[in-house]
Parts: sequence; C-alpha cells; structure tokens
Amino acid sequence: MTRSKSGSGTTPRSPRWPPERIRVAAILRGLDRMYSEADCELHRDNPFQLLCATILSAQCTDERVNQVTPLLFAQFSTPAAMSMAPPLALEQLIHSTGFFRNKAKNLIGASRAIVERYGGQVPRTMAELCELPGVARKTANVVLGTAFGLAEGIVVDTHVQRLAQRLTLTRSSTPEKIEQDLMTVVPRERWILFAHQMIWHGRRRCFARRPDCEHCPLVPHCPSAFHAA
Ligand code: SF4
Repeated sequence: MTRSKSGSGTTPRSPRWPPERIRVAAILRGLDRMYSEADCELHRDNPFQLLCATILSAQCTDERVNQVTPLLFAQFSTPAAMSMAPPLALEQLIHSTGFFRNKAKNLIGASRAIVERYGGQVPRTMAELCELPGVARKTANVVLGTAFGLAEGIVVDTHVQRLAQRLTLTRSSTPEKIEQDLMTVVPRERWILFAHQMIWHGRRRCFARRPDCEHCPLVPHCPSAFHAA
C-alpha cells in the first residue's frame, strides 16, 4: 500500500483498490483537512479526571460537564478522595449533568475499585476498565485513546453513530456493531483521531437535524448528502 506523506496511510494510488476503500480513504482525507487538530473536548488534567468527566457526559453535553468538573475536581481530586465523597455532596455538585444519583454512585464505585484493585491508578486495558461501575466500551475507548493513546476500539457516541450511518460506513444500528463495522473499514492507526473528527463534524456541520450539507466537503462521498434523515 502506498502511504501518504501526512501519515494517514490512506492515499489511494493503487488501481486495484476497490471503490469502497477509495471512498473511505477520501472521507478520511476530508476529515483530516477539516479537523486535523480534533481532540476530546472534555477538560481534564489526568486519566482519572477524564474517566470521571466521561462518566458525567452520558446524556449530557461536554459544555455542561466542563462547567461542573472544576469544582468537582477541586474538592475530590484523586480516586482516594472521590471514593470517600459523601454521596449527597457529590450529587449536588453534579446535579446539572442529569442522572446525578446514578452518576454519583458510579463515580464513587469506580474510584473505590481503582483504589482497591489498581493502587489508585486508572487501569489501561479494555477488560479492566469495563469492570468499573458506570464504564462500558464507549467510556473505556475514550480513556484508552485520549488518556493513554491506546487504540483498542473506536468511540461510538451519538455523533459517530449518526455520521457512520449517513456516510454508510455501517448498516448496523447498535453501537457495538457499528464499532465493529468501523474497525474493519478504518485503519487502526486512525481509530482515535477518526472518532474525534467524526464527533467534531457532528457538532459543527453534520447536525442531527438539518445537517449543513451545503458547506460539507464530504458531499461527493456521502450517499446521504442533501437528503439526510
Ligand atoms: S454531506 Fe451532509 S449528511 Fe453527508 S456528512 Fe456532510 S453534512 Fe453530513
């Protein structure tokens, strides 16, 4: 395979590349051109803070989480401190992120497990992370990719799900199957950045309602252009 100078490894120069692979490569190049600096938009200083912020981001915007976490981390800055947090105080701090009772329970439970099982360090494997309260593949992928640079899977949130379907990178409807589909068509060295770029595109142009196809460079490669559901 001919590698591109940008390092994405997706420049289609071989005439033997199948059309779908060429299309996917074009989508990846388009995302690169728009969002080469894409990153997780949750504010954090370390893997533990990213884990907590990602737990809080369920059914909530990153902006809202970023409003809550400064005070939260000022009061409970480590897994040890968070594991001892009084539930009511924690619930008050995170109330505006929604589902606050469950999230408080998960923050305390995950912190306690990190202290008891991993010496206060956030674990670095998918299996270990997914055993923490409140953590499933999506959250584990965020932590592994963004905090540790480990590409074990692809983050599939609501934006990635919607865009993958519109771009027909998947015909599946569950996050688990969509992730598996994406892992087969996107080169592994792109998994982390790809998810960030898809989330950025979902927030900036390919909106759930009335996507801005008129200004989207992916139009030539998008079967849903101008008639997205
Ligand atoms: S062309 Fe429209 S539907 Fe397709 S990715 Fe761009 S904004 Fe989304």
